[in-house]
Amino acid sequence: MSNPFTNEGNWYKGNLHTHTTNSDGELTPQQAVDLYASADYHFLSLTDHRVLTATDDLDPKGMMLIPGSELDGGRGELGQSVHVVGLGMESATELPETDSIPELVASVAAQCRLCFVAHPYWSSLLTHDLLDVEGHIGLEVYNHTCFRGIGRGESAVQWDGLLGRGHKLLGFAVDDAHCHYDDALGGWIWVKAPDPSVDSLLGAIQAGHFYASTGPQIHLIERDGEQVHIQCSPCRDVCLIDPRPGSGTTTHRLELQQESYTDVTLSVSEDCPVFRVECVDPEGRKAWSNPIYPAP
Ligand SMILES: [Zn+2]
Ligand SMILES: [Zn+2]
Repeated sequence: MSNPFTNEGNWYKGNLHTHTTNSDGELTPQQAVDLYASADYHFLSLTDHRVLTATDDLDPKGMMLIPGSELDGGRGELGQSVHVVGLGMESATELPETDSIPELVASVAAQCRLCFVAHPYWSSLLTHDLLDVEGHIGLEVYNHTCFRGIGRGESAVQWDGLLGRGHKLLGFAVDDAHCHYDDALGGWIWVKAPDPSVDSLLGAIQAGHFYASTGPQIHLIERDGEQVHIQCSPCRDVCLIDPRPGSGTTTHRLELQQESYTDVTLSVSEDCPVFRVECVDPEGRKAWSNPIYPAP
């Protein structure tokens, strides 16, 4: 997994999880496209439940439209099914009749270019529900409609539980907007891609060349031995999260306390196998980097 902050390319902002009137959303596909285009998004995926929403007849309003769908099935220990966002498929996805989460996700993965697990916290998924699951590339660390709806938007605990067990998984922020209440435009990713095309975006996403956000921007994360250099838009807290028990550090521990940080160096232990960064701005909005591994 290379580092998007030091790779060549341009940054593109987009949302990979949205619903329309083709499933249980309030907006037509064109109204959804218009909404995100007017908010200066560069790409969008209309991921209706169990159907592939056609985009050929839509005016993309300058955005890249990624084919996508939200699939569901399987059963976690607490009884909830798992939801999976699949992207880059050419036709509607066939779902197996199964209670097995690994079987469901493997089937979705085989029919899409890539897929990730939606809203683990909303689904009451426990870390161990996802231990034997393969084929997906990550999970939603933040889902805005789950936050606005029932206060269960953030799934960092499930993510760190898997990272700490050696699973190399990426973290997505999405809004999953249905627009029955104010749930649009509250979570997105910034992707660093070599050129503005769907193919290039999906390749960059698969390679982990993105970060998730509800507001702040991350400009640089660079590790030099036991030091990690981070640059971001003004943030009140910058946290280095090491998924091992009791590990990690934050700007609150620095000797020189500042009101906000845009350029900060945090320490990491030499033997840290993986860490990630969270930046929190003065309004409490967050950005999440993907996991960063030591250079081979
Ligand atoms: Zn869902
Ligand atoms: Zn959804």
